[in-house]
Amino acid sequence: MNHLTTGPKEPVFTPKKDYFEREAMHTAEHILNQTMVRFFGCARSATSHIEKLKSKCDYVFPSSPTQSQLDEVEKQVNAVIEKHLPVTARVMPRSEAEKLCDLSKLPPAAGDSLRVVFVGDYDACACIGKHVENTSQIGRFKITTWDWQAGRLRLRFKLEEAKNV
Ligand SMILES: [Zn+2]
Repeated sequence: MNHLTTGPKEPVFTPKKDYFEREAMHTAEHILNQTMVRFFGCARSATSHIEKLKSKCDYVFPSSPTQSQLDEVEKQVNAVIEKHLPVTARVMPRSEAEKLCDLSKLPPAAGDSLRVVFVGDYDACACIGKHVENTSQIGRFKITTWDWQAGRLRLRFKLEEAKNV
């Protein structure tokens, strides 16, 4: 954990770009999924590919959205990020988790004790991944390209560095 080695002039909590890139992308994915559910009533992404520089999410989507709808999605994701919401996790029984989030895609092997990740009060999702601690660490969310075909919507996105990082 050499990320923790800091010089005397460097505040301990300054997010390191490399350290947070993937966590930031993945946390943005949580926010994007919740936004898609709220806007379109679709399910969270069926598959996703998250990388440091660019990522993509696929949604089961009956007909093509419009560019302006996706502009609104991008705007909403950034509005959530800009609220500087805390990202927290809590382990709870499955019976409690299923009241907070959709567990239909969770493998049965996940067990009876689940880790639920909260992005403020905006999103709750069972997840064992790594996340940033606050949405202020994500940066600006940008949908780069998208396409729709045969009931599948693919969104490609990237993050631009946050002003305060
Ligand atoms: Zn996650």
